[in-house]
Amino acid sequence: MMLKARVFDSHAHMDCPHYDADREEVFARLRGEIDGLINPGCDNESSLKAIGYAETYDFVYAAVGWHPQEVLRMQDEDLARLEEWSGHPKVVAIGEIGLDYYYDDCAPRPLQRKRFIEQLDLARKVGLPVIIHDRDAHGDMLEIVAREGKGLSGVFHCYSGSLETARELLKLGFYLGFGGSSTFKNAQKLREVLKHVPEDRLLFETDSPYLTPMPYRGRRNDPAHTLLVAQNAALVRGVEPEELIRKSSENVRKLFDKIR
Ligand SMILES: [Zn+2]
Repeated sequence: MMLKARVFDSHAHMDCPHYDADREEVFARLRGEIDGLINPGCDNESSLKAIGYAETYDFVYAAVGWHPQEVLRMQDEDLARLEEWSGHPKVVAIGEIGLDYYYDDCAPRPLQRKRFIEQLDLARKVGLPVIIHDRDAHGDMLEIVAREGKGLSGVFHCYSGSLETARELLKLGFYLGFGGSSTFKNAQKLREVLKHVPEDRLLFETDSPYLTPMPYRGRRNDPAHTLLVAQNAALVRGVEPEELIRKSSENVRKLFDKIR
């Protein structure tokens, strides 16, 4: 199906080694295929790479931050680095930041919470939205954003929680991002959530190179696959894909207001 509206991939890690062999070709192709993409950082190195891509390609934007799986290496002075980078015209958010209780070899949970809260405070200070990663930490996450998230806006990327938690997050003003996992056969519960998210709080993403949507599951993901995610969402919600894609691009620009 040919659509006039182009999708915006609100979350893609183009700095990953998966793209080392053909990154420039991929970016050149994407320029004609998508509305734009946000490359979030996970540490100093990937945040800087994201800024580099954003400086090179007009349709690419960067976020800077420390991912919960990386915060064991984070130093106090790295916060000042993030603050400095946040002033760059194409750095549109602090992220990705959050909590990950899935892996046992992650940073200790108290340290994850400390670094997460510090970065929430930074986002408030510099006036940027946040891109949040929450894996198996829904209870602590909800408590922290309710307590520490005042005055902040942001997105829960690749949302994976319950409908109940989704309602709480929506009440707090957050957006919810949906990716390839919402197309998987076993994701019935997630599609139920997807059905209930108000149209003006919905973002699409790929989380490339991971979580490739059906029917390409298992292969390297690509920001152009945001279209498959959006088409599936339109089907689940019983609306026209064109309209939903246009609305979600509008949402991207409303949340990340440095994007033109
Ligand atoms: Zn990510």
